[in-house]
Amino acid sequence: MKKISLEKLNALFAEIAETKALYLPVDTETGAQYQKWEEGKTLSSALNTVRSAKDFFFPQTESLVHFKVEGKKIEIMDVRDEGAPFVIFGVRGCDVKSFELLDRVFLQDPVDTYYQNRRNNAIIVSLACSEPEETCFCHSFGISAADPAGDVTAWIKDGEIIFRANTEKGEQLLAPLPLEEGGEAKAEEARSEIEAITKKLPLQNLPLEKFKAENLMDFFNDPKWASLSQSCLGCGTCTFVCPTCHCFDIRDFDTGHGVQRFRCWDSCMYRDFSQMAAANPRLSQLERFRQRFMHKLVYYPANHEGRFLCVGCGRCLSRCPISMDIVKVIKELGGERDAK
Ligand code: SF4
Ligand code: SF4
Repeated sequence: MKKISLEKLNALFAEIAETKALYLPVDTETGAQYQKWEEGKTLSSALNTVRSAKDFFFPQTESLVHFKVEGKKIEIMDVRDEGAPFVIFGVRGCDVKSFELLDRVFLQDPVDTYYQNRRNNAIIVSLACSEPEETCFCHSFGISAADPAGDVTAWIKDGEIIFRANTEKGEQLLAPLPLEEGGEAKAEEARSEIEAITKKLPLQNLPLEKFKAENLMDFFNDPKWASLSQSCLGCGTCTFVCPTCHCFDIRDFDTGHGVQRFRCWDSCMYRDFSQMAAANPRLSQLERFRQRFMHKLVYYPANHEGRFLCVGCGRCLSRCPISMDIVKVIKELGGERDAK
């Protein structure tokens, strides 16, 4: 392991930023947000950013291809950017796990090369959560707030930051930096403290056992969806702040002398989300609401060896204007069903 005094952290950022773009959570008027590091920007102590780190790999909007039109001649222009290595510093365990869940979507055949380029270029430095909050429930999904994954894991303890490289990319990042050897004991102490806090959090053991493929139709037909979805505004906030939601739309923009094809985030909570030429299969908010949670709790696990499409980050708990969230759905639907 390697370590450095927190007082030297900004000098360390400057060192990293000399060779690679460096992004980190920075405090803003609207909460912590990832920003590119430059002199004067410091690491936020907030537990999580308002928007998740998925933006780095799956941006809210991006150009896919341009078509230049001249009379009857159409030229196709590949606007893909191969990019360059960059570092994301201070990613919490829940968001690091979200990358693995998104990889299973974007990197399966056919591979999304736009996403893949950015994933290949990224070096992830995760940061253990010194004080997990009451809205956190990553532990329910087997995620460790105390020892998050990533190319490098970092712990802050007693005025120092300790680093452990987990991958070759991580080792290459740390090797040239002016770090001291050591920090094992402090990292271990930090891990134990965080685990002790995590065990006491109120949402750590949610009733997830019954969310299995064999119960799919029981969950789908559960009458409780009516009351759960009754107040949902269909605003889509929960999907936009969620690190694992990944629905998108592809549209063409007529520039007057060509077409720009772009994709942008979409939400299964929106009325026209599943609109097709023939019809829309989800006409009510109940159906749309049910789709979001069935996808996270039943459909995705059925296709991905039981992994849930939620990392317990708690963003939807703090952002939904009607205070509806996945915890309420899990408790309501998962609590009383007979185990199969
Ligand atoms: S559950 Fe909440 S955040 Fe999500 S669409 Fe409904 S009202 Fe909006
Ligand atoms: S559903 Fe809510 S708690 Fe789960 S990952 Fe998405 S925003 Fe976080």
